[in-house]
Amino acid sequence: MSKLIVVGGGPAGLTAAFYAVRRRLEVLLVSPELGGQARHQSTLPGFEEHRVIRGGDLVARFARELEYLGYPVRTGAVAQVRAAVDGFRVRLAAGQELDARAVILATGSRASRLGVPGEAELFQKGLYGSAASYAHLFLDKSVLVAGLGARARAAAAELSAAGAQARLLEEGERLVSLSGGPGAVQAVVEGPAGRKLLDVDGVFNALEPSPNSGPVSGLAELDGAGWVRVDSRCRTSCPGLFAAGDVTDVHREQVLVAMGEGAKAFLSAVEYLEGR
Ligand SMILES: Cc1cc2nc3c(=O)[nH]c(=O)nc-3n(C[C@H](O)[C@H](O)[C@H](O)COP(=O)(O)OP(=O)(O)OC[C@H]3O[C@@H](n4cnc5c(N)ncnc54)[C@H](O)[C@@H]3O)c2cc1C
Repeated sequence: MSKLIVVGGGPAGLTAAFYAVRRRLEVLLVSPELGGQARHQSTLPGFEEHRVIRGGDLVARFARELEYLGYPVRTGAVAQVRAAVDGFRVRLAAGQELDARAVILATGSRASRLGVPGEAELFQKGLYGSAASYAHLFLDKSVLVAGLGARARAAAAELSAAGAQARLLEEGERLVSLSGGPGAVQAVVEGPAGRKLLDVDGVFNALEPSPNSGPVSGLAELDGAGWVRVDSRCRTSCPGLFAAGDVTDVHREQVLVAMGEGAKAFLSAVEYLEGR
């Protein structure tokens, strides 16, 4: 039995595992891959590469350090975490079961797809997902925010605050296709008056993402949209089960926030394991 199982190898999970290995805690990291969403590389016009700290570089450093320290990792997805006599039983999608006294869930979220031609080709090269991360690079630029509702309005507000000219899809409008590349995107939009072509500097996908909280549904309290509810110390409603990063109701969709939450979750897990 491990003392601690960390589920998910993105910024939050890698940070929690890194702290655990440094503390010489018996920890196992279970994830299909390492890096999570921080591995996405973006291309933007006027992007000064040498001035940017890439999320991917940051998590790669943590992963290299963990490798150097010789930490145990299991490649695979977790299907379910359930309560057991001495802690938790973690079932992998491949069927195997692992036991731990405490678990940190750091499985992140998944973006919703726009489902239009050109989406894959322009991903991070004209079509972006994180207004909070890239808004400041769109000063005096025109952007289309693809989505409706609160998230789209928040993205448009973020972009406008950074000096971009943000256009939202209007009621009854839908995005039909995307083409072009970084700094010059052609977006075809269909509305009640027919189709029109918009020439913009960038497009933001503002559809709601979904939390990867399935493995703990039924074990920990989730909010109405499925995010894992945590307190200010990353404790869930289930003692011994902690959660960090974008899978939680904190989900600020920032690498640094996820890493900070991962560190907090580890510190709380140690307190729990040591009965403090
Ligand atoms: C396109 C894009 C661009 C972004 N750009 C920026 C940026 O420029 N700056 C910035 O600060 N933030 C950016 N973000 C946000 C940032 O990447 C995330 O906030 C951050 O990666 C969240 O970290 P996390 O560890 O919580 O989750 P994730 O990064 O999503 O990692 C989750 C991990 O859990 C694993 N996992 C999922 N399900 C399971 C399962 N069932 N069992 C086991 N493991 C599982 C995944 O494989 C992954 O390793 C961007 C996000 C996207 C999508």
